[in-house]
Amino acid sequence: MKVLGIESSCDETGVAVYDTHIGGAAGLRAHAVYSQIALHAEYGGVVPELASRDHVRKLLPLIRQTLAEAGLGMGDIDGVAYTAGPGLVGALLVGAGVARSLAWALDVPAIGVHHMEGHLLAPLIEDDAPQPPFVALLVSGGHTQLVAVDAIGQYRLLGETLDDAAGEAFDKTAKMMGLPYPGGPQLAKLAESGTPGVFKFSRPMTDRPGLDFSFSGLKTQVLLAWKGSDQSAQTRADIARGFEDAVVDTLAIKCARALDAAGCGTLIVAGGVGANKRLRAKLTEMCERRGGRACFPRPALCTDNGAMIAYAGALRLVAGQHEDATIRAVPRWDMAELPLV
Ligand code: ATP
Ligand code: MG
Ligand code: FE
Repeated sequence: MKVLGIESSCDETGVAVYDTHIGGAAGLRAHAVYSQIALHAEYGGVVPELASRDHVRKLLPLIRQTLAEAGLGMGDIDGVAYTAGPGLVGALLVGAGVARSLAWALDVPAIGVHHMEGHLLAPLIEDDAPQPPFVALLVSGGHTQLVAVDAIGQYRLLGETLDDAAGEAFDKTAKMMGLPYPGGPQLAKLAESGTPGVFKFSRPMTDRPGLDFSFSGLKTQVLLAWKGSDQSAQTRADIARGFEDAVVDTLAIKCARALDAAGCGTLIVAGGVGANKRLRAKLTEMCERRGGRACFPRPALCTDNGAMIAYAGALRLVAGQHEDATIRAVPRWDMAELPLV
């Protein structure tokens, strides 16, 4: 089954084709992402109305481009998957409207995908993918969650952030130190030239049992350190390194605990912060030390993309799940409500 996937929940337009007959990483016939970063940069954050309008502009050309790259015509598509939520309602409606109309015109089934299930399943697109049970760490711009995955579609929340998401903490911290929007990846880049241990920040909530996170206090610690420093280029890099190490250590400590709690050896990691090199190295080492393994998508499939939506939708469509002609946009949606695949 060749499934067209459409992602438009926030500020990235993503389109992909996943072919379940081929399967594995080769099943991803083509994927393309158009990022609206430049559009929102001058506002320092995503402007919802501008985001919706830009999805309108970019979606159809991106679908044509992706199909051409896959060497397919519109008539070759057997199903359409789109992000139904959670996300910005206007942005979601653009993807849902186009996807649903296309499915109707082609007379193929359509399915609305949960954006976080898309992220969660992205590591499984790669070759040599693990099978459940495993623990998933979802670390993105809006979420930081530990999820026990007993089966595809059966998600048990083990812990989550009580305030900022890890990606949000990266972005806000970067902004405080004068890095341009969106600062997360730039802060990580800067940290590479920083010296570890010069600035030592706390590992929030690791001194007590539990699997929840809190990252908003770290911001304040960084702000105080930055304000009281000489604000030189090297100091900025040293602070960036101290911040990154604090986030990475905290995530690793809680992931190890979650694996213990779930009685499980395999960790899968997804979401934008999953592209962070130091996090990947640390979690890989932690899991190997325990005799298990950590699995990640390639960095381009960590941040928002159409491939994860095509893949997650394809699993459900192949299982016979699909929807009526409703154009579905669900801004808030609990992943625990999803049906089993
Ligand atoms: P959600 O999926 O929760 O709705 P989102 O879709 O905005 O949120 P993603 O696209 O998955 O989030 O990820 C974007 C986030 O990942 C941003 O906060 C960004 O700063 C962060 N990020 C991306 N690359 C890196 C990196 N190398 N190191 C740290 N953070 C990163
Ligand atoms: Mg984004
Ligand atoms: Fe996302």
